Amino acid sequence: MKVSLRVRAGFAAAGVVSELVKRFVKAIVLFGSPGSGKGTQAKLLTECLGIPHVSTGEMLRDGIRQGRGVTPKTAAKMQAGILVKDAVVDAMVEERLGRPDAANGFVLDGYPRTLVQAEHLAEWLKQREISELVIHLAVDYNIIIARLTGRRECPRCGTPYNVVLRPPKVDELCDLDGEKLVRRDDDREDVIRARLDAYELQTRPVLEYFRTTGGRVIEVDASEDPPEVVFQRIGRAMEN
Ligand code: ADP
Repeated sequence: MKVSLRVRAGFAAAGVVSELVKRFVKAIVLFGSPGSGKGTQAKLLTECLGIPHVSTGEMLRDGIRQGRGVTPKTAAKMQAGILVKDAVVDAMVEERLGRPDAANGFVLDGYPRTLVQAEHLAEWLKQREISELVIHLAVDYNIIIARLTGRRECPRCGTPYNVVLRPPKVDELCDLDGEKLVRRDDDREDVIRARLDAYELQTRPVLEYFRTTGGRVIEVDASEDPPEVVFQRIGRAMEN
């Protein structure tokens, strides 16, 4: 994680979750539409619980940047806002969860996103007698659109901005290091629409799957408040 986010995360995460919860919660699934703030909350949870953040989107983007493990076909799907093949992400997640740093738990962000992936994860967890805790970040549709279309980040320090909701002091430049802010390739309007369609059609049913298979699902209102407040809400719900 980049430095500025780590400092903020550490500050916001301090003391939100008790030692008891830390001991018992092993597999956290952060669930929500694109732009619901999963990445930000995952970073706060990671810092607080001392377990790794496993983001399939970030792993795929890293693969593209480093030129390994991601085929041109998969990269093209991401650019178009379409989900990549289940087998690709299932294998990637399984390999990641098998690494030593995930032995004490992990926060999944962006996975599972289809029923096939949900079943794959359920089998993996069952074999290890782990039950998942699902945190659903519920956000109003119009807010999602505003967040995604205005989203920018500093390529050097990772600080997130929004040109409307959280603008930098100087247009398009990072407050911390003056670097020119960038927009993610798939935060263009046509691609945003495709990502939201994929969420409605393929991913939302996964929430129902978790509810009906008896796992614990926490509902959190993540529409209006700043990330730190949403995180406190998650912490309180986990304590219950
Ligand atoms: P967001 O949730 O904001 O759409 P992510 O960073 O989670 O962004 O994902 C970016 C892209 O990576 C998705 O649009 C999709 O193409 C691909 N992707 C990420 N996770 C998965 C997954 N679990 N299954 C299929 N495709 C995925």
